[in-house]
Amino acid sequence: MSQVELTWGVSTHVGQRSENQDRCLAAPPLFAVADGMGGHAAGGAASEAAVTELAAASDGPTVAVAALRAALERADDRIRRLGGPDPELGAGTTVAGLGLIENGGGLFWVVFSIGDSRVYRWAAGTWEQISTDHSVVQELVDSGEISAAEAATHPQRHVVTRALGLGPGCEADYTVLPVEGGERFLLCSDGLTGGLPAERIAEAVAGGGDPQEVAERLVDDAVAAGADDNVSVVVVHAHRREAAAAGADVDAEAVTVPRLPADGARA
Ligand code: MG
Repeated sequence: MSQVELTWGVSTHVGQRSENQDRCLAAPPLFAVADGMGGHAAGGAASEAAVTELAAASDGPTVAVAALRAALERADDRIRRLGGPDPELGAGTTVAGLGLIENGGGLFWVVFSIGDSRVYRWAAGTWEQISTDHSVVQELVDSGEISAAEAATHPQRHVVTRALGLGPGCEADYTVLPVEGGERFLLCSDGLTGGLPAERIAEAVAGGGDPQEVAERLVDDAVAAGADDNVSVVVVHAHRREAAAAGADVDAEAVTVPRLPADGARA
């Protein structure tokens, strides 16, 4: 069985907000971005609950989809109890995540998302948004009422239709993809996609380089462009190794340990 080696980078910034309610998770083989919403500290507590529960779901070289589902359900339950009985104090969080799963002796990616944080993939020369936004503007685009360009400036562009902690239940989407080797993933909160043109984001990831530097450059550029929201990015690069090589000494130089910002990120 061929194996895959991962390098990754994490960056987050408060933007022009008073508090960073985004959280990032880099716990290989599991990565996620969560964008909390809610007054006072509730939004940050909601996104924190999501990454904490996900982190507990990952304790080996791969994760199980059932464990991811259970983690998101536990997070959903915790978030619903944050605000107490007053629905006005409700909190929620998006989650966009990526994990390695094993099936039939092979490795696959699972991409999961709820809300409008996104997962993109650069593979074989193609840039693709893997997740689908659960948002008011995505529904308007899908129904043909507005264009994708109009969605970028629509007054309801931050309104999500699904989130952990809000709505009727925990309805994340899951997409399974083959491991190609050489592909790159970008996980981001809407502060990035709302702050930088889509082509700038794609170029930065496609251009390669150290994933930590790519993550920091994307966040720095979005902040420099005047991002009015928290901005969070996780970049993951996959490098395929064949079984014979994988049995040899692990090349420690090939594993990049991300420098995590003290605030708003956790590993
Ligand atoms: Mg946001």
